[in-house]
Amino acid sequence: MDQNKILVSACLLGERVRYDGKIVLHDNGVLKKLQKEGRVISICPEVEGGLSVPRDPAEIVGDKVITTNKKDVTKEFYKGALVALELVKKYGIKVAILKSNSPSCSCKFVYDGTFSKKLIKGKGVCAKLLQENGVKVFDERDDLGVALAYL
Ligand code: SF4
Repeated sequence: MDQNKILVSACLLGERVRYDGKIVLHDNGVLKKLQKEGRVISICPEVEGGLSVPRDPAEIVGDKVITTNKKDVTKEFYKGALVALELVKKYGIKVAILKSNSPSCSCKFVYDGTFSKKLIKGKGVCAKLLQENGVKVFDERDDLGVALAYL
């Protein structure tokens, strides 16, 4: 029988998808092991939404997502979140490990919309949509043992 799959932010797996084109420095041994076992579905919602690498950083401002150059990328962020939701439905995914502090992926904190590096409580567009659809969302700083227990 197939083992349950888990949705993971692509940048946490070492993929060069971040806005700045850099690799996330994070001990991803557990995630890589799951990936080798074929249990990981990787996604970068912002890239899936049609944004490039590199791209201007963006923050959530009210009900929109705006870049440092004042471009409204709300549509792209929601498009990427919907792709993630489609994957969740396709694979029957119950758990996601998504990158902290991202306007797409964070499940706890986001920057406050002033581009002054100030974090506030809040959720990224993708993490929020997945949670609203019953997915348990964790970030890379959480105890992955706890997260994997929900699989
Ligand atoms: Fe990583 Fe998510 Fe940002 Fe893509 S959108 S770079 S997966 S944090």
